[in-house]
Amino acid sequence: MRIRYLPETLISQIAAGEVIERPAAAIKELVENALDAGATQVEIDIREGGKNLITVNDNGSGMSREELVASLDRHATSKLPHDDLFKIEHLGFRGEALASIAAVSRINIASRQKGADAWEIRAEGGRKYEPAPSAQTSGTKIEVRDLFFAVPARLKFLKTDRAEYTAVKDMINRLAMSYPAVSFRLTNDGRTALHYRAAPILRERIADIIGRDFTDNALQIESERNGIRLSGFAALPTFHRGTAQYQYLFVNGRTVRDKLLHGCVRAAYADVLVQGRHPIIALFVDIPPSELDVNVHPAKAEVRFRDAGAVRGLIVSALKHALHEGGRRSSTALSVKTLHFSRPQNFSSRQTAAPSYAYGNLAEAMQPSYMMDHINPSARAEIAPQQEISSPLGAARAQLHENYIIAQTERGMVIIDQHAAHERLLYERFKEQVGQNGIEKQGLLTPEIIEIGETPAQNLLEFKGSLQQLGLEIDAFGPNAIAVHAVPALLGAKTDIRRLVYDLADEIAEHDRVSGLEARMNAVLSTMACHGSVRSGRRMNADEMNALLRQMEATPMSGQCNHGRPTYIELDLKDIEKLFGRT
Ligand code: ADP
Ligand code: MG
Repeated sequence: MRIRYLPETLISQIAAGEVIERPAAAIKELVENALDAGATQVEIDIREGGKNLITVNDNGSGMSREELVASLDRHATSKLPHDDLFKIEHLGFRGEALASIAAVSRINIASRQKGADAWEIRAEGGRKYEPAPSAQTSGTKIEVRDLFFAVPARLKFLKTDRAEYTAVKDMINRLAMSYPAVSFRLTNDGRTALHYRAAPILRERIADIIGRDFTDNALQIESERNGIRLSGFAALPTFHRGTAQYQYLFVNGRTVRDKLLHGCVRAAYADVLVQGRHPIIALFVDIPPSELDVNVHPAKAEVRFRDAGAVRGLIVSALKHALHEGGRRSSTALSVKTLHFSRPQNFSSRQTAAPSYAYGNLAEAMQPSYMMDHINPSARAEIAPQQEISSPLGAARAQLHENYIIAQTERGMVIIDQHAAHERLLYERFKEQVGQNGIEKQGLLTPEIIEIGETPAQNLLEFKGSLQQLGLEIDAFGPNAIAVHAVPALLGAKTDIRRLVYDLADEIAEHDRVSGLEARMNAVLSTMACHGSVRSGRRMNADEMNALLRQMEATPMSGQCNHGRPTYIELDLKDIEKLFGRT
């Protein structure tokens, strides 16, 4: 074995392996170059998911003949004028993307600077040809054919055309989100897949990309501390997905997949979202370049902050604050969708005596006999004082199926899940008490002995001290049982202590092992709140219902239960009228 210097093409291929691992990565580099060149229009065309052909056409500054030649060389860049890696003002700076792409494909670059002649240059598998005059009218057009033809082994790692296309789309969405003033168009096998017109404001672009449902159900984030700025939109906790894929995170305009940032989002929502669900979020961090190291990942997908603690603190507190402030809002999109789904299809034949729903008395509207067959209000409030109607959750009018409260508001109606609502209220009360003198306890006359098994018993006893602060007094009782001496007073006398203890043991065992004590104890509180809340099935009279609504209005984050489900949904009169074809 002998040490030898690798040939230049092999070096480029090795470098390319890191930067360009699939078509979406090549497109990211090409589009970033267009954005760095000041383009206001970027058109991307792909064939076969980008495997066969990628074209990126921009109206940016263009390149001269000499620049075209240099652009294909490794470590050739126009973007580090001060040789300072902590003064990075462009998306690019490594000067290796075009060289890497050229090493593994057949590339053609045509470009024209304003007032100069147009030139084009091509390269194949890293071999560069002489530039030639071109017909390009302005900006730059880069065509990449047969990506990875020069490294056939890599081709085998590519996914189906469809999967590669999906990754391309996702990448373009991310790039488009941080450049709302630039128009983007993607065509796939000749068909327009995405088209974003230049938007005057970020909110519009985000609505185009994620959907208006999201922007309508998101909290706006604006915060600044020590020169670090945070902005964007964060979903209400009821608006979540099963993967973190819909979290769009940016640092200084650069799309990143950063563990620290995802972790901040998780921490901020921990209290309002069940584990395994992820809020949709579009979050922009702007930080002085001197505080940031972007040179830690070849594709620049990760970054490092000089003061990670400060960034984390800012993000978590800004998000928590917004959730707290906006916490009483629930998800409107959800409500309208639900209603569309359950809209009766053959209702018209029975609609002869259609009651007036417009601003009528909702209790009245429930009277028609054909509805009484299905809906049997178990409580009805006939008179609703105006002050109740004008409060955000309105005046309670009826309780249905012994769990759903219907309330009339000025703008429409609200349906409240009384169990979920009560659960949230209890949880917040518990947290309040913990913050003061600890949770109030109620001793049991005779201790309740629960044979729960050895491991669960030990798990519980391990947290004996913390549980005590949370109002639950337990002791060992032989090797596989525990004795319960006191329970939180808020839970009330009818609590099924045995079930509660079983659930708590499960909760403690299941809750992410690495999560801190606070997270675990909040999970315990949440379980206790669930046990203590009005189970569905309890009838309430009008006063009780209205009291619940007023309490919700006064409680932070009462828009969702501890599991991220909404506690109420709101139907705007306009939406209701739409459903009945009245508008
Ligand atoms: P980097 O972006 O890190 O500088 P690249 O290999 O991506 O490295 O590009 C090399 C150089 O080619 C850039 O610095 C820029 O000067 C030039 N260039 C690449 N693409 C374009 C474009 N679309 N418009 C104008 N100049 C470009
Ligand atoms: Mg670049």
